[in-house]
Amino acid sequence: MSWSSPGGPGRLAGDGGVVARAPAKVNVHLAVGPLRPDGFHELRTVYLAVSLFDTVTVRPGAGLSLSVTGEGTTGTGPDAVPTDRRNLVWRAAELLAERAGVPADAAITIDKSIPAAAGLAGGSADAAAALVALDALWGTHATRGELTALAARLGSDVPFSLLGGVALGSGRGEQLSPVLARRRWDWVLGIAGEGLSTPAVYAELDRLRAEGRVPGGEELASPDPVIAALRSGPVPALAAALGNDLQPPALTLRPDLRRALRAATSAGAAAALVSGSGPTVAALAQDEDSAVRLTAALAGEGVYRTVRAVHGPVPGARLVG
Ligand code: ATP
Repeated sequence: MSWSSPGGPGRLAGDGGVVARAPAKVNVHLAVGPLRPDGFHELRTVYLAVSLFDTVTVRPGAGLSLSVTGEGTTGTGPDAVPTDRRNLVWRAAELLAERAGVPADAAITIDKSIPAAAGLAGGSADAAAALVALDALWGTHATRGELTALAARLGSDVPFSLLGGVALGSGRGEQLSPVLARRRWDWVLGIAGEGLSTPAVYAELDRLRAEGRVPGGEELASPDPVIAALRSGPVPALAAALGNDLQPPALTLRPDLRRALRAATSAGAAAALVSGSGPTVAALAQDEDSAVRLTAALAGEGVYRTVRAVHGPVPGARLVG
C-alpha cells in the first residue's frame, strides 16, 4: 500500500482538532443469500445515505483515548456504545496507524446522533468519519481507494459510509457500485427505545429459513426494480419496490414492530420498512412537506422513542469546517 499520494497537510480546526462527519444509511433493498462458509451471508443491497450524521473530532494525544456524547451514552444492551477497543473507531485508528506506519496517538470524541444498534450503520459511520479525520490529523494522505480498503476490513457497511450517496452493495455489502438517483427522497425514521443486535437478526433469519417459514434465499431478489425507481423518480414506484429480507426476523424478535410499521402507513407514509437489521422503521414520504406532517403525526403516536425527518442521498464521510 502506498501512502505517498499528494495532498496538503491535515485541515486543523480550532484547538488543533480535526472534525469529520458521516451519515446514517437506509437499505432500500436488502436481499440476503444463504450463510456462506466464512460465516457471512451473501448480500445484494441498495444503500441510501440519509441526513442524520455522527461527528467525530480527533485531537493530538498520547496513545488513543475515546469519549462518546449524544445518542448511545445511556444504552445498556446491544445499543451500548463502548469507549475502548471494542469501538469501531478505536479499531479504525489502530488500522490506519499500522498501515501508515505512524503512532496511534489521538484523543477522539464521537458525537452521536445516529442511535446505536438501530440498523442505521451508526458504528460504521463513526469508523468512516474517524478514518477521514485521522488521515488529516496524522497527515497520512491516504487515497480514497486506500481508505476504502481499510474500511472494508473494519465492517461490511463502512465502505458505504465513506462513499455515501446511493450504491449497490454485493459480497458482504462491501463491494460497491454507485447508483444514479435523480432526486431527493424524504423519509421519516421511527427510532425504537432499545436496539437490536445485528448478529441476532441474521441468526433468526437462518432459523426461520431452516424451519421453512421464510424462503431460503437461494435466489437473491433482484435490485433492478429499486434501481429503476431511484432513477426514474415517482414515489409510488420506489414504495412498491422496497424490500428487506431482514424484516421478517426483526419482526419475530420484536413483534411490536408490526404496530410501528402500521402506524407509519396509517399516518400517510407511501411505504414503511424496517431499516437494515432494525429496529428503526424507515417511512417513505411523498415530499418534504409530507415528511414534516408525518413526523408530527408519528411523534404523537407514542410508538417510537424518537422520530426524525431525513432525506437522501447525501455525501459520505467528509471533513467539516
Ligand atoms: P449494522 O451496521 O450492522 O446495521 P447497526 O447500525 O444496527 O449495525 P451500530 O450502531 O453500528 O448498529 O452498532 C452495532 C454494535 O456495534 C453495537 O452493539 C455497539 O456495541 C457496537 N459499536 C462499536 N462501535 C460503535 C460505535 N462507534 N457506535 C455505535 N455502536 C458501536
